Amino acid sequence: MLDDKSLCILVSNDDGIQAPGLLALATAMREFGKVIVFGPEENQSANGHRKTLTKPLRVNTTHLADGTPAYSTDGAPADCIALALLGYVPEQVDLVVAGINRGPNLGQDLTYSGTIAAAFEGTIYRKSSVAFSLNDRSREADYAPSAEIARRVIKQVIAHGLPIHTLLNVNIPNLPLDQLAGLKITRQGTSVYHDELIRRLDPDERPYYWIGGKAPTGDITAEGTDIWAVYHGYVSITPIHLDLTAHEQIDELSAWRF
Ligand code: MN
Repeated sequence: MLDDKSLCILVSNDDGIQAPGLLALATAMREFGKVIVFGPEENQSANGHRKTLTKPLRVNTTHLADGTPAYSTDGAPADCIALALLGYVPEQVDLVVAGINRGPNLGQDLTYSGTIAAAFEGTIYRKSSVAFSLNDRSREADYAPSAEIARRVIKQVIAHGLPIHTLLNVNIPNLPLDQLAGLKITRQGTSVYHDELIRRLDPDERPYYWIGGKAPTGDITAEGTDIWAVYHGYVSITPIHLDLTAHEQIDELSAWRF
């Protein structure tokens, strides 16, 4: 359990420091204590758990659209968390929250996601960490209902705490609060990707490639998964841990004669 009298909450994202979902999340977190905003300067979606080791990182002070002071860096989302927790921020951070992402982070999206990576980085520093994503990729998305869900989830995280190296991946349907079916604790589902390799020619007639295609979909029939829950109007809460071991394979592989 966290002491809720003097909490300090670090808020980041992968959509960039001026993304509306970040402002909505930072605003919602204020009731729990001091909020520190530290996000990437540019959109870092699908940049995964990148750690910048081969170039210097610069930190800029900036403001969100409502005037909230914020830090930004030209690094990745996980760099934002590392910079803050390694000492750029003097405060003792209690909680790391990431989002609210523009678009869902479901199924196999997790290892691509910069939003999840920011939360993972928080768990490496043994902070309770939660990632929030809204199932709406449009520029006009309304983050107010998902910000209210974030507030309710964080209230419970503060009350119960989270195990070490474990984060919550929260995905919120694009619905008004009174139309949500409820909240479900889920497992990771199976994404279906529709990526296409697009080949074009540059002005010098040299080919270049773009990974394009439609946004991923997923298996909506597997009850109890994150994909199933969001499709059926539930807020999906999946506990995720850093241990990626396929535990059920250990006995099987131990019988192999290498
Ligand atoms: Mn994103």
